[in-house]
Amino acid sequence: MADDISSPIRSVVIAGGGTAGWMAAAALARHFGKAGVAFTLVESSDIGTIGVGEATIPTIRRFIAALGLSEAEVMRETEATAKLGILFEGWDAPNGRFLHPFGMYGQDAGDIGFHHLWWRARQQGDATPIDAYSLGAQLARQGRMALPRTPAPTPLATYDWAFHLDAGRFAALLRRYAEASGVTRIDAQIATVERGDRGVAALHLHDGRRIAGDLFVDCTGFRSLLLGEAMAIGFEDWRQWLPCDAAIAVQSEAGSGDPPPYTRAIAHGAGWRWQIPLRHRAGNGIVYAEGTLSEDEATARLLADLPGKPLTEPRRIPFRSGRRTRAWAGNVVALGLAAGFLEPLESTSIALIETGIERLRRLFPAGSDMAALADEFNDATADEWERVRDFIILHYKLTGRRDTGFWRDCAAMDVPATLARKLALWDARGEFVRYRWEMFHPSSWLALYAGFDRRPAALDPALAALPAEQTAAAMARMRAGVAQAVAAAPGHADFLRSLDR
Ligand code: FAD
Repeated sequence: MADDISSPIRSVVIAGGGTAGWMAAAALARHFGKAGVAFTLVESSDIGTIGVGEATIPTIRRFIAALGLSEAEVMRETEATAKLGILFEGWDAPNGRFLHPFGMYGQDAGDIGFHHLWWRARQQGDATPIDAYSLGAQLARQGRMALPRTPAPTPLATYDWAFHLDAGRFAALLRRYAEASGVTRIDAQIATVERGDRGVAALHLHDGRRIAGDLFVDCTGFRSLLLGEAMAIGFEDWRQWLPCDAAIAVQSEAGSGDPPPYTRAIAHGAGWRWQIPLRHRAGNGIVYAEGTLSEDEATARLLADLPGKPLTEPRRIPFRSGRRTRAWAGNVVALGLAAGFLEPLESTSIALIETGIERLRRLFPAGSDMAALADEFNDATADEWERVRDFIILHYKLTGRRDTGFWRDCAAMDVPATLARKLALWDARGEFVRYRWEMFHPSSWLALYAGFDRRPAALDPALAALPAEQTAAAMARMRAGVAQAVAAAPGHADFLRSLDR
């Protein structure tokens, strides 16, 4: 019998219990559980999870606040450290370093953006790095951490922070939360997916059970069992711009000193490595293009520079950067790796899960006619993913390295038109194109332009009305204000200890 297209959504089935599945279960059950919607999550402990998403961006704090969880609680449970940004090593040149902090730089002069002041000072021979005007960057560089004051007393005090967390513990925390909110968990393998008039009708499990639902959330990871396989939604491959297609991950002992409050992203001849400090260990990995480096060479490079002794066997994870052409098809909505993946350089995958959940909450179907909701979801998701894609491509395109074929190809590649337009405006006038659904604000783009020393050809003509000495004095006051605030902040390790009280 055909489904009644006006029937309300009474049961939601979430396929997959990795970070995406449990985040969706926790957030959606909290919101809709009391309204009579039943949630069932099917995961397979035999298959397991990918287990590597350990660096986040500040939106994670909004997500856990919406669940009513405290930052201290989540950090304790997940052995988390604070993340104030990412230190990029060897990207602009083999020995260069720059920081991408979560936060603003300096203070504008009226309508003239701070970055115009800074680039003019630079043109005039002032070598002060842009970091000197960022409280977040200075805290990170000095290994300190303090909670930002909200609202920030001055623009100079505007910075944000995120967590490095143990992915397994985070999923376990969310699972406890979701189960307490009434989510039913089934540990079994999905054998087949039964199609129906709306899209998917039911999941058939290896143990013979049939799990029917009105709405299905596909969180089955790279397998994309419901959206990719059953609904046959294609994959848009972004390899031409993001050439890395494999990673090797290994956990190690933490380093001997205090954990840094930032992720390290260390470039090598054919990609980059990550080091993520946790309280009880470190997460490490190498990302590379398979055609340019063998697995043995990549493993050797990874193991040659770990913060401590390895605790696990190195594990190879092949991936493709790109996304499903539609994230919502029929009654199937994909979140996490089932929807696509952007290589992990700016730790955006968990953030895209958050925004996907938020979008699904806002567009949660009232009945089975979901076409208009799906269109809106898909348009917004496409835009958001493409904006993140462009930001990640920027790291490769702007490289100053010419020491290997990999980097020479990155520097020479044609970029998407949306990014080319951003670069053209920056180059012409030091300004930022702002599209909708930008996850990374102009300050993040500025961190990259400054880090790669991409100098604009011209600056705001209104600068001519600002005497250089007056600007220099104002900039000196900004630096002093930042330095004073940093000096008053505790060390990162002290900050973490304060969470245990
Ligand atoms: P998975 O963790 O793969 O979960 C899939 C789930 O589906 C599992 O529960 C599995 O059991 C279940 N499943 C699959 N098939 C079946 C079946 N047949 N029957 C039943 N159950 C099934 N993100 C960040 O935000 N920050 C980072 O620093 C970061 N680093 C990364 C590094 C690498 C190398 C990679 C590849 C990814 C990284 N990510 C990062 C992405 C992040 O790991 C994922 O977005 C996140 O873990 C969510 O994964 P998932 O839940 O979609 O998939």
